Amino acid sequence: MNLQQEIRARQGEIVKTLSELIRIPSVRGEPTEGCPYGAHSAEALRWVLELCVGMGFRTKNLGNRVGYAEFGEGEELVGILIHLDVVPVGGVWERDPFSGDVADGRVYGRGAEDDKGPGVAALYCAKTLMDLGVEPKRRVRLIFGTNEETSMDDMDYYVEREGVPDYAFAPDGLYPIINCEKGMAKIAFAREGGSPGAVVAFEGGTAVNIVPESARAILDGSRIDAAAVAQAARSYQGAAALEAETGADGRLTVTARGRAAHAAYAPDGVNAIGALALFLREQLKEQAGPLVSFLAACFGMQTDGAAARVRCEDEVSGPLTLNVGLAQAGETGQSAHIDIRYPVSRTAQELADTLAPLAARWGFSTAVTHDMPPLLVPEDSRIVRELSAVYEQVTGRPAFCRPRGVGTYCRKMAGRAVTFGAHLEDTPHTNYHEPNEFIEIENLMGHAEICIEAIYRLATMPAV
Ligand SMILES: [Zn+2]
Repeated sequence: MNLQQEIRARQGEIVKTLSELIRIPSVRGEPTEGCPYGAHSAEALRWVLELCVGMGFRTKNLGNRVGYAEFGEGEELVGILIHLDVVPVGGVWERDPFSGDVADGRVYGRGAEDDKGPGVAALYCAKTLMDLGVEPKRRVRLIFGTNEETSMDDMDYYVEREGVPDYAFAPDGLYPIINCEKGMAKIAFAREGGSPGAVVAFEGGTAVNIVPESARAILDGSRIDAAAVAQAARSYQGAAALEAETGADGRLTVTARGRAAHAAYAPDGVNAIGALALFLREQLKEQAGPLVSFLAACFGMQTDGAAARVRCEDEVSGPLTLNVGLAQAGETGQSAHIDIRYPVSRTAQELADTLAPLAARWGFSTAVTHDMPPLLVPEDSRIVRELSAVYEQVTGRPAFCRPRGVGTYCRKMAGRAVTFGAHLEDTPHTNYHEPNEFIEIENLMGHAEICIEAIYRLATMPAV
């Protein structure tokens, strides 16, 4: 029985199903009656479960939040963790993001790579094993969530009702294996009252988990040499670009433009808030005010947390990354929000405790507003050993574990799940979370070849 040949024979069905599923625009929407994440997310779930019923799986829909399709018998359970929701479209697309177009050996559309393509492939892998009459030693369950991209509370809901699988993987990242997900914390700094100094207003960033592309400050021209500051901005040479504009009221507006990136990959971006704060501190000196002074002294454009004294790394997780995602100052208050992806050997509270006395020097309070603790599944755990063997058998490449700064459903699975695929090593970026997302059909099928072997192995391996 050659499972790779068997799944290859289903390529046409996989592509067709994926294309149809992309046409359901399952971005999180306003809750409606019975649809906590909006009508489209619920529609995607019902559509997939209906397909699964037709394929012969037992299915269950848990409150239009999460559902599953299952085959086989046994006490133990193998879980394949898939999400059917997608991030919003954003930006300029060359094709309708929900067309599901098939062209040039690719399937195009939001969700093609993240995570509908890998999910549909996994579904057909399970279906193929069922059709081949494979008798699993434990149940095989495809678990479809619909709120992964926002908060993952769909999987909390699932785990409360169904518990965690004995062995699980999420085809929602990269091969070979991601066994470590850094902790993810959001920390807020706040100070009440208007800004003493020349900075009348400061505004930067769109979301804490995005490196801010732009930031803007309005300066009181009567307290500074506005012409000199404007000239310095125009001749500024740095990673960001600066512009200055003098208003009729004598106020000077300085704008910084950087480059956006996901906070998990903060070193790839150029932080406009940091660039602007550094420039203003240099120019305004004691007129810079508390927000600019704090941002410039503790963060600047650093992404490793060195100046804020939180730089750290460990062998399994790699280094901490830090992003100042939002900053704001006005008449009534000043605030900044940072996103930290921290190694498994640290806690969010430890980091906040280090930052608090620094922030207090400029009059800011410190609070952890969100924390997702890190995940580490040991390399000698059975799930990692079995999936490593599968990977080496199918691809002929060495398997290895690596860390990542983003979260998947694996975090919700009590250390029993790792990310396994679906993106193949040494293949091009597929624009997931960006405009013009696509998946190469050849790479999708490459994933399917590994995935079918993984399900087979986990389903049929002897019990311990
Ligand atoms: Zn995903």
